[in-house]
Amino acid sequence: MPGGVSSPVRAFKSVGGQPIVFDHVKGAYVWDVDGNQYIDYVGTWGPAICGHAHPEVIAALQAALEKGTSFGAPCALENVLAEMVIAAVPSIEMVRFVNSGTEACMAVLRLIRAFTKREKVIKFEGCYHGHADMFLVKAGSGVATLGLPDSPGVPKSVTSNTLTAPYNDLEAVKALFEENPEEIAGVILEPVVGNAGFITPDAGFLEGLRELTQEYGALLVFDEVMTGFRIAYGGAQEKFGITPDLTTLGKIIGGGLPVGAYGGRRDIMSMVAPAGPMYQAGTLSGNPLAMTAGIKTLELLQKPGTYEYLDKITKQLADGLLAIAKETDNEACGGQISAMFGMFFCPGPVHNYEDAKKADTNKFGRFHRGMLERGIYLAPSQFEAGFTSCAHTEADIEKTLQAARDVMSSL
Ligand SMILES: *Cc1c(COP(=O)(O)O)cnc(C)c1O
Repeated sequence: MPGGVSSPVRAFKSVGGQPIVFDHVKGAYVWDVDGNQYIDYVGTWGPAICGHAHPEVIAALQAALEKGTSFGAPCALENVLAEMVIAAVPSIEMVRFVNSGTEACMAVLRLIRAFTKREKVIKFEGCYHGHADMFLVKAGSGVATLGLPDSPGVPKSVTSNTLTAPYNDLEAVKALFEENPEEIAGVILEPVVGNAGFITPDAGFLEGLRELTQEYGALLVFDEVMTGFRIAYGGAQEKFGITPDLTTLGKIIGGGLPVGAYGGRRDIMSMVAPAGPMYQAGTLSGNPLAMTAGIKTLELLQKPGTYEYLDKITKQLADGLLAIAKETDNEACGGQISAMFGMFFCPGPVHNYEDAKKADTNKFGRFHRGMLERGIYLAPSQFEAGFTSCAHTEADIEKTLQAARDVMSSL
């Protein structure tokens, strides 16, 4: 396997050392094949918001398994999850399930082009929308970590319609619209960035994009593959009160099984085959196991107090890390919203990917190794957000902060 992994973000190339091979996971913890236990802040990159291998999710999956693993025909569970997603996410009136966030973003791009009959699209530097050709332009996540923002193998003809702007820069977006009148199908973004490290939208940025897209007849797409059901039950669009035209989802809505979804305005979604002419399909899409894990996960998240608890422990962690950095004379900035957090080793503030690149990645590598040695598993990159779950306790956070104090005093 190239690099020994099935996905590059799992490798330790940017922090040094070899990736840890997991044996099993439970709640807030993961165990490696040598029997070492870690407090986990990756949460399988987002899905494990209720904690790993939640007993109710496992029980529901065991029951579903008895009925078969894939139908290749409609399954009533799809309707259950569809209704839950439609009820939760303000922009979604109709939804299509796919198998990954990448697929959801590919499909939504085809859809905005089909609907507007325009070909250009604006994305932001450092934002990641999966690994499809047209999004591998100044992308985030593993491509940022490995310093490969524009991948070889992607034809120029495919990316020539992908325009980019710095995150939080409304003027740059406006200029692109002015230079390409009636050519831009839409704007896609992570409404809170997690794939260039954790970066929040400045006041007025999301509102400004909503207004600009409307003014120029383009569509606004929130890629909430990471933020959906994490920043709030209804995603960043609920949290910030800005409703895009379309939304992509993944990660949490599959409860740890392969899933993605895209949805939005009924008039736009009605273009998707077989209701309309825009083709998109999938052998395993909406399969009963992924639907079951998703439904149970969302049910668990609906328990009163879930997001208050997530916000409380994550704030304890993020504030604690910054306070320790200060005490130990390490320049750092960062923050959290709900169960998503991040810290950069630079004075900040970080408004975009250019700012994020000023962070001391070498220091982050040493921090990461020190934490790992003390039983704390962080994403092996300065350019990835961290995730907490309902299974993390205040004692877990305290233990993490104690480890951080040890490590940061010797950086
Ligand atoms: C993870 C992620 C994707 C890609 O999802 P996959 O399931 O890994 O294909 C797309 N967009 C965002 C914002 C993500 O965080």
